[in-house]
Amino acid sequence: MKNKGILTVVSGFSGAGKGTVMKKLMENYDNYALSISMTTRAPRPGETHGKEYFFSTKEEFEQKIAAEQLLEYACYCDNYYGTPREYVEEQLAAGKDVILEIEIQGALKIKEKCPDCLLLFITPPSAQELERRLVSRGTETMEVIQQRLARAVEESEGIEAYDYIVINDDLDTCVKELHSLVQNAKNTVECRAEFIKDIREELKQFSKGEK
Ligand code: 5GP
Repeated sequence: MKNKGILTVVSGFSGAGKGTVMKKLMENYDNYALSISMTTRAPRPGETHGKEYFFSTKEEFEQKIAAEQLLEYACYCDNYYGTPREYVEEQLAAGKDVILEIEIQGALKIKEKCPDCLLLFITPPSAQELERRLVSRGTETMEVIQQRLARAVEESEGIEAYDYIVINDDLDTCVKELHSLVQNAKNTVECRAEFIKDIREELKQFSKGEK
């Protein structure tokens, strides 16, 4: 039987470069499945429905909550964001390593539901670099940038809930580090419980000469 994949949650300040890191991770390695979230925020220029997000109305979003079709959801800067349940469950069962790129409230809810998941926090090397990236992205007004920086202050208080931080200074280094953290996490004794059980059983049979 194929091993189940591991569920990894990646969070980080808005502007930390998570989107670019995820894109590169998907390009470089083929065992990942990136969950596409649902959101009530408006698409940014260049974003398409079904690619970066499933864009929805507040009413549609609330229907999904009521039907328990979201694995988690949170309100972030006045908009809803949530993870569609079905895709994540299907991909994990098919052995894919599923990545959720979500904020901290959602990350904590996932940890509660799936204690075996891995929580990674991506950060730029400094606060100054974060502001520079937010401004140079050119997709948000100064007001929204201020709102996101204020939110980053709050989020920085929650970093200790994560298993590892990954500093996104050089993109390729960051992607390699993230990949190796995920692959190593698959070999913890908790994640390999099934393998351990099987090998114990086989060893017993061999030692009794039954195989
Ligand atoms: P943005 O508007 O910049 O695309 O995303 C804002 C924040 O929402 C980011 O921190 C992003 O990781 C988070 N986010 C995106 N999708 C989800 C989701 O499905 N659930 C939760 N809880 N947060 C999400």
